[in-house]
Amino acid sequence: MQIVEHPDIFLREPTSEVKFPLSPEDQVIIDQMIDTMYRNNGIGLAANQVGYARRIFVMDTTSSQAGAMIFINPVIEKLAKEKLTEEEGCLSCPKKLIEVKRPIYVGLKYFCRHGEEQYKTFYYLSSRVVQHEVDHLNNKLIIDKPTLKGV
Ligand SMILES: [Zn+2]
Repeated sequence: MQIVEHPDIFLREPTSEVKFPLSPEDQVIIDQMIDTMYRNNGIGLAANQVGYARRIFVMDTTSSQAGAMIFINPVIEKLAKEKLTEEEGCLSCPKKLIEVKRPIYVGLKYFCRHGEEQYKTFYYLSSRVVQHEVDHLNNKLIIDKPTLKGV
């Protein structure tokens, strides 16, 4: 799978909700997304980064490449007031590290691949990745955020 890179306008096109049960195409693409994330040493990947405009992302912050989580139709329901600024990279914006300020935890509602609704709170790095990937699904990139340098 090829990663769609900025400034490809596909990254700016709306993504649509996934219907259950998942189609065979959805299933194959989810497996390929996990594979593609690992191959590129990523810790998160959104479906529109691989040319599939559906509201799906995968994440693995364990660095063991064995803990991939799948998020379908994710909705951020809670954000911490406390924020932290850290450098972030993006597979769609190669060789760029950008300082991004984000809430330190996030409460996320989503569906698993079997169509069951889930709710989970993510902290620190996982919180950052969740927000980064939901941004992708909403057509936002880290390069759009104002950098804190010089402020
Ligand atoms: Zn990204």
